[in-house]
Amino acid sequence: MARVYNFSAGPSMLPEEVLKTAADEMLEYGTSGQSVMEMSHRSKEYQAIFDEAEANLREIMNIPDDYAVLFLQGGASTQFAMLPLNLMNKNKKADFIVTGQWANKAYQEAARYGEARLVASSKDKTFSYIPKVAAEDFDKDADYVHICFNNTIYGTKYNYIPETGDVPLVADISSCILSEPIDVTKFGVLYAGAQKNVAPAGVTIVIIRKDLIGNAMDITPTMLKYETHSENGSMFNTPPCYSIYIAGLTFKWIKKMGGLEKMKELNEKKAKILYDFLDNSKMFKGTVVAEDRSLMNVPFITGNDELDAKFVAESKKAGFVNLKGHRSVGGMRASIYNAMPIEGVEKLVEFMKKFEEENA
Ligand SMILES: *Cc1c(COP(=O)(O)O)cnc(C)c1O
Repeated sequence: MARVYNFSAGPSMLPEEVLKTAADEMLEYGTSGQSVMEMSHRSKEYQAIFDEAEANLREIMNIPDDYAVLFLQGGASTQFAMLPLNLMNKNKKADFIVTGQWANKAYQEAARYGEARLVASSKDKTFSYIPKVAAEDFDKDADYVHICFNNTIYGTKYNYIPETGDVPLVADISSCILSEPIDVTKFGVLYAGAQKNVAPAGVTIVIIRKDLIGNAMDITPTMLKYETHSENGSMFNTPPCYSIYIAGLTFKWIKKMGGLEKMKELNEKKAKILYDFLDNSKMFKGTVVAEDRSLMNVPFITGNDELDAKFVAESKKAGFVNLKGHRSVGGMRASIYNAMPIEGVEKLVEFMKKFEEENA
């Protein structure tokens, strides 16, 4: 068996240890005589798996008791609608910073339910930077402010948390959850699809301040009310049981690795190897301003489409897969989530050096 280095933006690599544990427990979880996939979500065994996952996530992210943790379905994309339906309930307006496609989708979807205002955008420079926004730029009457904290497609990340005063700040952290510590208390809602840095696709994690729950618009479908899920321990209906189980294994792995401070240290080390190479290469270059670079998603180009295509094809043959950039931007992108080992990045850079020499 030869596992490749998978630089996919999502679904993406999972820690090998997590996969091995899942394999060991595939036919029988503990002494239950069954796989986690086959268990009733109402069983004592499954409830224990669920509770342990939530407790470990709370511990790792330092989530205070006045926040609910929900394990939902529908991906981060469903949150683009759930947020306005549940939060645009006082003045029916919300503020948005658009830093890429996902941020824009959240903005567009909210505009269907209320007054969505564009506060700032980095579209003028192909989303290659994060706009600097201050407290006075936001509407004090907005029901919430929405940002996308790490922009998976363009490879930018906020290096600051916007100050929004009393207006709840909502952040999409799909592609940076668990990559480094984040101060949960600065946010009203944090949400993430699991398939980037946590688990297989299927579960969406929502961390929401409890006072924001319970005021959904009348038109909100029952399944799209946060209240429905918070009142039922995320088991109003069948949850994505297996994805939650794998998420739980990932949380345990992170704890064992040394928590989010340690993840940050490792992620900074990995990203530096790649960015240092890009900064010194004559052929490859990064596309994002240095101060807003993501630790997780690293886009780069040669400036020549044919050479880009050749690089993607040859890298694939050498065991580095999914390096092609997002279909909307072209070029290359290396997603280096928590599960990407440092050797994966070192070997990729070696390969890039060789490619550069051979194609100079
Ligand atoms: C992948 C991604 C999404 C979309 O997630 P789905 O779970 O496919 O809906 C949204 N936001 C960000 C930042 C992403 O990276």
